[in-house]
Amino acid sequence: MSQRVNGIASPARQKLKRRSFVALGVAGGALGIAQRLTEAVPAAAAPLSPSLAPVGRSGVPHIGLQVGHWRAAEMPDELRRLRGQTGAYAGGVSEVEVNLLVAEQVRALLAPLGIAVDLLPATIPPGYLADAFVSLHADGVVSSQVAGYKAARAEWRDRSWLLDWRRENPTASSNRELWRDVWRRAPIIDRNPLDEALLQHMLHRYGAVTGLPRSPHVSYNMTGYYAFNSRRYRHTISQDTPAIILEMAYLTNPFERRFLTQRPEVPARGVALGLLSFLALDQGFALADQALQQGFATAP
Ligand SMILES: [Zn+2]
Repeated sequence: MSQRVNGIASPARQKLKRRSFVALGVAGGALGIAQRLTEAVPAAAAPLSPSLAPVGRSGVPHIGLQVGHWRAAEMPDELRRLRGQTGAYAGGVSEVEVNLLVAEQVRALLAPLGIAVDLLPATIPPGYLADAFVSLHADGVVSSQVAGYKAARAEWRDRSWLLDWRRENPTASSNRELWRDVWRRAPIIDRNPLDEALLQHMLHRYGAVTGLPRSPHVSYNMTGYYAFNSRRYRHTISQDTPAIILEMAYLTNPFERRFLTQRPEVPARGVALGLLSFLALDQGFALADQALQQGFATAP
């Protein structure tokens, strides 16, 4: 992917606001879900700093689960190069069917707790807002031996550093190869301060639940994932939405392919637990904390 620094107007950053959510399959009731359908988080519940987020925030957590490559043919013009990317395929199984299978099971686990879950296709609604966003994928490589799961958050390059370099090297920046190299050496900055927390919860919980090895092969396709790249594209999540991409396993590894297709409830449980931990401990949602305390983690 080529990168440009200048000439891209970043979309007006959306004001963070709580939307009206209807919890799927839940009637509100004791948790007061019905009361949380309006704007504005009460001032007392809004943490000043993510690390100080109190467990006790009321309201319905809202999750975006992207089913990797789902309906890729419908992608908008700005992302038309991805329309043909239908994902990995191995042993008669396509990645998108596995991604959808697991995503539906994650929703089935979280919805009864009162958590609103959107299943999103490859095309993201511009400026999509949620308390957490996870893009679900399964990887494919030539070797059937490569195994494991991996996750990543966006790694943004520091533009001011790049612009300084360009000012100091006015002729060199027309050299494409050199410019690409400089881009890769630019300091990395956070897209969203909560991305790292979401990543750590997911790596820990998903690994523990599935027992899969953690793969070290995080690629630029993950850290530079298009759905995170609101500096370049319009059909991306809001910068206010904490986000990660998860490669759940290798579809090209026969053991892992069987695992994903025959026991999708296990990776689904890992994803759900990673999300609940993040929602409870870093987003401060009482509802998520309650679910963890009541044994969501240990249920069969
Ligand atoms: Zn994929």
